[in-house]
Amino acid sequence: MIDLDKHGISYLKFKPISSWSDDDFAKLFDAIASEHAAPVVDLPFIAENIEALLSVSSCRQCGNCCKAGITDDENASVMADKEELEAIAEETNTDFEELAEKLTKHATAKDAWCLPLPCMYYQDGHCLIYNVRPKVCRTYPLTGVAHDDISYIAVNLGCDYGRDIYKRLLKGD
Ligand code: SF4
Ligand code: SF4
Repeated sequence: MIDLDKHGISYLKFKPISSWSDDDFAKLFDAIASEHAAPVVDLPFIAENIEALLSVSSCRQCGNCCKAGITDDENASVMADKEELEAIAEETNTDFEELAEKLTKHATAKDAWCLPLPCMYYQDGHCLIYNVRPKVCRTYPLTGVAHDDISYIAVNLGCDYGRDIYKRLLKGD
């Protein structure tokens, strides 16, 4: 958890969440996002949980997660495994080897590549490979974080979709 005192919001420690205003939540989420943190929740990163959480709100279609507008990391990228990259190559009539050569191999995942952000497949407000977009694009703003051999759900607070989801979790709705 972040240091609430450091962010000037220590009053939240003494205020029941049920009485938090939208402004209280916004202050907390701004503080967490400013530390590039994504709160991890006690739910395994499995399809059932992902679908349930994604359904509590909706994507604003801002495209920021494709344009890298949610991060100041200049190396931000989207991971695609071999199967996903093959599907993208087929969808875009590109030779798989040619496509793979243009991309950086993922530092830790085996047989995976990084699609740099802003994404080359984001054009005019749309994903050109929507039907074959990688899993990470399908689950955002939720991502998986490994802990003790189990992958748990982390909620990214860089967009209002993620903030809505986390707010519902905090409120226990
Ligand atoms: S997931 Fe979030 S950042 Fe990405 S398009 Fe939807 S609202 Fe925007
Ligand atoms: S593959 Fe599509 S959804 Fe994923 S980052 Fe690129 S444009 Fe966005």
